Amino acid sequence: MAKLNQYVNLPRISLFVERGITSLDRLGPVHFKANFKMDDPMLAKFRTVLVSEVSPYTETEKKRNRWYKLQEPVGMQVSEGTEMVSGTTAQLPPSGGAVYKIETRAGDKTVESTDEIETWRRLFFQTFYMKHGSDPKKDVPNLKKTLDYYEKTLFVELLEVPEGVHTEISYLENATSDDLIRLVKPKYTVKDREPWVLALVFSNALPVRRVIEIGVDVPGNVELPGRLWNNAQLVFRLPKGKYAWWGINSDHDAKNGGKGIWLRGDGRLTVDGKEFVIPKDSIDLDTSESFRAGKGFNRLRITLPEKARNQNGIFSKSASFNLKLLVADGFSGGFALRDENLLTVARTAWWRDTENAESEKLQVLNHELGHKLGMVPKGGRKFGGLYELDAPDKLYGDVDLIYAGKNPSQDVKDYVRSHDNAKGHRGAHCERGANGRKTDQGWEWTGNPQCTMFGATSIEDAHSPQNFCTACAKLLIRQNLDPAHSDAVLSFNSLLDTE
Ligand SMILES: [Zn+2]
Ligand SMILES: [Zn+2]
Repeated sequence: MAKLNQYVNLPRISLFVERGITSLDRLGPVHFKANFKMDDPMLAKFRTVLVSEVSPYTETEKKRNRWYKLQEPVGMQVSEGTEMVSGTTAQLPPSGGAVYKIETRAGDKTVESTDEIETWRRLFFQTFYMKHGSDPKKDVPNLKKTLDYYEKTLFVELLEVPEGVHTEISYLENATSDDLIRLVKPKYTVKDREPWVLALVFSNALPVRRVIEIGVDVPGNVELPGRLWNNAQLVFRLPKGKYAWWGINSDHDAKNGGKGIWLRGDGRLTVDGKEFVIPKDSIDLDTSESFRAGKGFNRLRITLPEKARNQNGIFSKSASFNLKLLVADGFSGGFALRDENLLTVARTAWWRDTENAESEKLQVLNHELGHKLGMVPKGGRKFGGLYELDAPDKLYGDVDLIYAGKNPSQDVKDYVRSHDNAKGHRGAHCERGANGRKTDQGWEWTGNPQCTMFGATSIEDAHSPQNFCTACAKLLIRQNLDPAHSDAVLSFNSLLDTE
């Protein structure tokens, strides 16, 4: 008996008959045929039989999503003569690693299919990189181990297209998601495979762009020295890890007549209950001091209006300062765009020239790909979708406004506020092996993360692993990876459709 791979997440189109797939029959639903030789007209009935399964759907999952149940084939045919060829189509559930055979019954005869079918999934990626330095091999990490892991453990084949081709895009020291889309678009050649394909981009550094409000999001308390101490100027340092959005992107710096976009409007100073407006022209970024060799600026120099100055000669005075800024709020090791088919991994961070270790890059890649493939599902929980798989036991971060849809109601906002379990990370993650504790400084984690879906790349010296924990791996095996299905977990919208 032969075992045939059936790629349940691909459609029956000839483009996908390639690289180990030899016929259209191996794509999508399975077509079975049976031959009977009988004298009398007769009903033939088909039955799909599950032989074995690596990761069965739970009863609650099947209750929420009928596609997780094996659909009995509708094939019931009446033979018309002595020779009958009848066939049927079986829509198999979308998980990988399930083995099926088919039985046909006509009259008192039962015929078993000669072949078994094993379910597989296949997705594609086009590789892009920003050339850095002179060793081109270093720009793209060796993906073999990751791809093997997906294939051998998770029944997912991730294939590079065009095979063996890495496409160079312009080097940008710091890139945002908009930059990546702009750079990749003209060199993206795999539109014909959408939505089964994503752009995998190896970037340099990925600063996290955020608007913060001093005095609201972060404290804006300042001391105003007495007039004797030359108090016309106030120096304000941004909190640790936050830097003005300046020197990161030359287009951004050129805006507003060369003043850049880091400053969002006028500031306000409150002294003795009185509020003074500080015009934006009086607020400067001190570029004489930087975090790293002329990069990373976090000190503001604010010229106070005469009336706002501390009038006392000697004694200082407390005041509070309020201002909106666009900042680089740390750097990200990589991210997957939520709505487009693009995933990126950074080479470095924090204006450093040292490179992240290959194992770190692969961990980031697998973590972000995991998100793209629906990890970590929240089925059965407050923000879980109807079609989502059951949430695993070590889920956290599933109560987050990002799951509340557009324009969430006040009820939903209140619920998130009171049940927020983000633990310092963003979105649904797996905390197996790790323990989070809330302190005055925020969340502190201890332990050894045992899942690549932990919400950070490391806890002190314990790095998150490259692979999923067993529970999450089982979930990935039964995710619906057909992005053409309305109930699938992927959001693989085309890059070319973005503005
Ligand atoms: Zn994550
Ligand atoms: Zn896990």
